[in-house]
Amino acid sequence: MEMSSALAPGRSAELEEQIARDASVFRILTGDRPTGPLHLGHYFGTLANRVRLQDLGAEVFVLIADYQVLTDRDTADHLDDYVIGQVLDYLAIGLDPARTVIFTHSAVPALNQLLLPFLSLVSVPELERNPTVKDEITHSRQSAVSGLMLTYPVHQAADILFCKANLVPVGQDQLPHLELTRLIARRFNRRYGAEVFPAPDALLSDAPLLLGVDGTKMSKSRGNAIALAASADETARLIRGARTDANRNVSYDPEGRPEVANLVLLAALALGRSPQEVAAQVGSGGASALKDTVTTAVNELLAPIRARRADYARDLGYVRDVLRQGNERAGAIAAATLDEVRTAMGMRY
Ligand code: ATP
Ligand code: MG
Repeated sequence: MEMSSALAPGRSAELEEQIARDASVFRILTGDRPTGPLHLGHYFGTLANRVRLQDLGAEVFVLIADYQVLTDRDTADHLDDYVIGQVLDYLAIGLDPARTVIFTHSAVPALNQLLLPFLSLVSVPELERNPTVKDEITHSRQSAVSGLMLTYPVHQAADILFCKANLVPVGQDQLPHLELTRLIARRFNRRYGAEVFPAPDALLSDAPLLLGVDGTKMSKSRGNAIALAASADETARLIRGARTDANRNVSYDPEGRPEVANLVLLAALALGRSPQEVAAQVGSGGASALKDTVTTAVNELLAPIRARRADYARDLGYVRDVLRQGNERAGAIAAATLDEVRTAMGMRY
């Protein structure tokens, strides 16, 4: 594969400098699958960055990737509940529909049509090599790998490029997909001799891979997540059951002690402090003191978010309007991009 990494060393720092200088030069696209409630992995991995960028004046697009639900399961169950729940989570964390476009890709036909030319730009071995797809195949509920599982990263390129996004705040699992999007953008421009698409950068947070209570990647589909909308008691119960290790002294050592380090990081992020400070403060208090610290910090962070979510949940008409308007705005942009693509490809009759 032609590699020019979406995350070359030092790139994140450069991007952060640019963001601090003038965030309005960025158009952000990022999204989530409606496979269940959003969790702390989303919050610290990408959601908090979306709100920060929105508030700094970047243009933000947030996608609810409904077709992508079908990559690792036969049917998209509870779709309406999960989609509406996701919009509630977005509103609760501070995404503002006046500044941020929230949409579902199934409602934007012109976006999906980009998939066809994009598929012609990648080879089957390139698709088969994708490490995130390989991992998801391992965890999949299906006995055979579907064509969608193998090609959804190309669909994701359409999600990102339809609005010509140049920055994508994501977790670590998305880096191979971002690499593919950059490849597709460059190959399209070269093949058709037109500068239609930018090659977007990934933006990682301080928690690019938050672990769940079982010590593996926190995921909606793996039953190990602390949902943003969980109750304070449920949150306490989940954290109490989180995996730790036999060493009583708490330290921050992500390589040697991943589960303990993950809890330390969680508390640090929720408190806005450094992991080293949190570890030093808990010290010989051991796992139970650490878990108390995490529980209090997370519940304090989430209390206002949960309250706002409950308020919005009382007005589901408004929530559906947000989505309808987002779909319309995304639709107009996708139609304009598809027009450019068809012109570049000589498909104007
Ligand atoms: P599923 O298990 O259904 O795939 P998920 O929890 O992996 O759900 P996605 O919708 O696939 O969530 O991911 C949405 C976004 O959140 C992506 O940018 C992804 O990188 C990020 N993300 C998801 N889980 C984590 C995590 N544990 N740590 C950091 N970022 C995460
Ligand atoms: Mg996922």
